[in-house]
Amino acid sequence: MLTAHSKKTSFLTCSMMTLTVCLSAQSVTHRIPEPKVALSSWQAARNCSQLGSARYPLDSVVWLSDSLRVRDRFHTMVGLWTRPDTITLDVDYVEDSLTVEHELLHYLLQSKPDEPKHPVKYFVYMCHLIQLPIGG
Ligand SMILES: [Zn+2]
Repeated sequence: MLTAHSKKTSFLTCSMMTLTVCLSAQSVTHRIPEPKVALSSWQAARNCSQLGSARYPLDSVVWLSDSLRVRDRFHTMVGLWTRPDTITLDVDYVEDSLTVEHELLHYLLQSKPDEPKHPVKYFVYMCHLIQLPIGG
């Protein structure tokens, strides 16, 4: 959801900073091991949503960490699912079980670009995973 916008923001931010600062700010994304809370968050997300398939198992998720809040212009984004299997967590939210569960629900839903990103049925009524400040 924030991809196009983030790129634009990053570009504008970079153009206003020195090249060195810009490069260091762009290079903090890195792979991380599966969070310790992932398994319990996975079970919770599958239970509440009644979703799950062999095609999208927990061990296929690519976990990344980044300073999401710094990049987000509202400084509120702490997790981001990128179709189909990548979850990026803010550096301070890697072990936040609700953030991880929220992003895993995105992974289970596999919403298409033209579908609602946060279907109320799942995120509100079934799983209670809509809460500020998760933005992505
Ligand atoms: Zn979300």
